[in-house]
Amino acid sequence: MAQLRFKALEKVQNRKKIKVSSPSNKISNYFETLIFGMDQMKGTLSPSVFNKVRFAIENRKKIDEETAEAVAAAVRIWSMNKGITHFTHWFQPLTGATAEKHDAFYDPQKGIENLKGSELVQQEPDASSFPSGGIRSTFEARGYTAWDPSSPIFIYGSTLCIPTIFVSYTGEALDYKAPLLKALEAVDHAATQVCKIFDRNVNNVQASLGWEQEYFVVDKALYDARPDLLLAGRTVFGHNPARGQQLDDHYFGAIPPRIYDFMKDVEIHAHQVGIPLRTRHNEVAPSQFEAAPMYGPVNVATDQNQLLKDLMDRVADHHGLKVLFHEKPFAGLNGSGKHNNWSLMTDTGVNLFQPTSSARENLMFLVFLIATIKAVHDHADLLRAAIASAGNDYRLGANEAPPAIISVFLGSTLSGVLDELERNGNIKIEKGDNLYMKLGIDQIPEIILDNTDRNRTSPFAFTGNKFEFRAVGGDSNVSNSMTVLNVIVADQLLDFHGKLVKKIDAGDEKRLAAIEILRDYIKLSKKIRFEGDGYSVDWEKEAKKRGLSNARDTPRALDFLITEKSKSLFKRHGVLNKIEIHARHEIMLENYIMKVQIEARVIGDLALNHIIPIAIIYQNKLIQNANGLKGLKINAEDIIETIQDLSNHINMIKKLTNEMVEERKKVNKMEDSRTRAIAYCDQVKAKYFDQIRYSVDKLELLVDDEDWPLVKYRELLFLR
Ligand code: ADP
Ligand code: MG
Repeated sequence: MAQLRFKALEKVQNRKKIKVSSPSNKISNYFETLIFGMDQMKGTLSPSVFNKVRFAIENRKKIDEETAEAVAAAVRIWSMNKGITHFTHWFQPLTGATAEKHDAFYDPQKGIENLKGSELVQQEPDASSFPSGGIRSTFEARGYTAWDPSSPIFIYGSTLCIPTIFVSYTGEALDYKAPLLKALEAVDHAATQVCKIFDRNVNNVQASLGWEQEYFVVDKALYDARPDLLLAGRTVFGHNPARGQQLDDHYFGAIPPRIYDFMKDVEIHAHQVGIPLRTRHNEVAPSQFEAAPMYGPVNVATDQNQLLKDLMDRVADHHGLKVLFHEKPFAGLNGSGKHNNWSLMTDTGVNLFQPTSSARENLMFLVFLIATIKAVHDHADLLRAAIASAGNDYRLGANEAPPAIISVFLGSTLSGVLDELERNGNIKIEKGDNLYMKLGIDQIPEIILDNTDRNRTSPFAFTGNKFEFRAVGGDSNVSNSMTVLNVIVADQLLDFHGKLVKKIDAGDEKRLAAIEILRDYIKLSKKIRFEGDGYSVDWEKEAKKRGLSNARDTPRALDFLITEKSKSLFKRHGVLNKIEIHARHEIMLENYIMKVQIEARVIGDLALNHIIPIAIIYQNKLIQNANGLKGLKINAEDIIETIQDLSNHINMIKKLTNEMVEERKKVNKMEDSRTRAIAYCDQVKAKYFDQIRYSVDKLELLVDDEDWPLVKYRELLFLR
């Protein structure tokens, strides 16, 4: 084992620089060259077909057969001109990865290349090897993928990739995209109705997403020499390096050359497939980085995030690197999250979360702001469930990430506005009085991006003209959190709309009526607002007093997914039905169990077969040495003490690991998956992981560096 470590270290020393050449020094020359988006469609389709496609996309309508036929022909020719021979339906099954099954354009029967409209629109992959949570019975293994024209077709490697949803033969969603699209439709519908009351010109509202992806990069050889990274995506052992992130010198520091080349390479590929990456920088922890694009429609941005992760993986391989997306690959260092910047934009170009100098528009701004707060208040638990995963459990509430308690941060300015609105809501408005002035709505500063207000400890923060959902895990598919966020806001907006229409019908003045409803919302949702330090122990106590949930682990957080409340919410908006919700719950539990199980196995294997044998060999060396010293009548007390220490830790590891194995056997026999997941969480993970680690990490400090089998933190994090 130690050999493996030193061979890997040698490999790192001998890495050659990888040359990265850009197709052009102007990004605009190659941006989007590998996607078949609106521009490419416009250039290749007849005007009438193009208009039909555009109409269908903008209004979420079905594309008819004839149009599909025309698009299929155009996209095939376009891609063949770029040397493409195969196509695939590209989808996002509930495994968390993306899936594809390639077919050739070449039709051997006809002897020509072909892509039928029907092949573009629908395919029938075998669904039996994808998780279905019990939906799919074995005799109905078929599933359908269906084209999602709202996300552009792209070329990836030598394949034309058609973004699709994935549903079972009986119509239930088996993927992340199908419910997301429905949630986006729901929020569009609800927001448009509300907007129309204030502005007749609004015809649709689009939810936008700008994600910030955090990740670690390590050398591929070092990664390969760590079975825990390889199998579990995180290090289960490893003592903190002498230098960690204490110096805080990594954040925004100079990017190391090898990583810089890798990033540049990723960006070139990303830009070609239309991922508008703009920001790259070092993150807080050593070897941690972040990538963020320009925001875009939620659906497209989600696909781009999935695609980017895949792309980074492949490019990293070429550079002899490995990207870690796991939420907590290294103990004692910051983990990786994915901030989801989210806003709503009208087709008239208004960002509904942007305060303006116009008092009239500010009322609309307040409606959307307060409705969102109320939605988060009412469905905080569901949001918590949406970000639950085995990996994120190591991050949430771990003193460097948003806590597992959902709360909303607004900043002092807006908090003040809301407090004012709550207090002054009852003021009588005389004829001629300026309502906006009296309520202070005319005074909301256009720019609320105040640096002191940038509370980094909040899981859900208003950041000037958007909300930032920060508790999302770095490795997750953002569809889950985006589906929930958009559907809860849709629900709240419909509630607002219904109440407002009722009041207007009863003869109330529109603006006053709106304010009255908002005042109620403010009162009802007050407890979700928190401006202080989300990492503090005081907040945990305070939150408890307020009655906010604090689900610390995935199996318990997932309970929120299957409540009657959440079922009826999803049903009201046609996003997920009962069967689908239970199936998802089941899949997520199984996924959790699998992850913890793998970690437990890796811990057991590394501890018993790699660490202990090495520790014993070293111990024997010391024993010999001590005996030798004794023969020479030299004091060997220090060495004997070390031998004793080694012995204690070795025994501890053996004992705990054996106990853990026994415990796992018991847990594995439990039938019900929720019971099993909770048992894995409480009886296996909580009881043994940290304890075993403690002793192994102590051994790392005791055993001769020359003998230690695992690549050390300092090597993983600082060698490039
Ligand atoms: P920070 O790290 O300070 O939060 P970044 O500049 O790294 O900010 O990331 C901000 C992200 O928010 C980017 O992806 C950006 O495109 C996105 N964003 C900016 N404005 C909006 C908006 N109105 N709606 C959605 N996303 C937005
Ligand atoms: Mg951010």
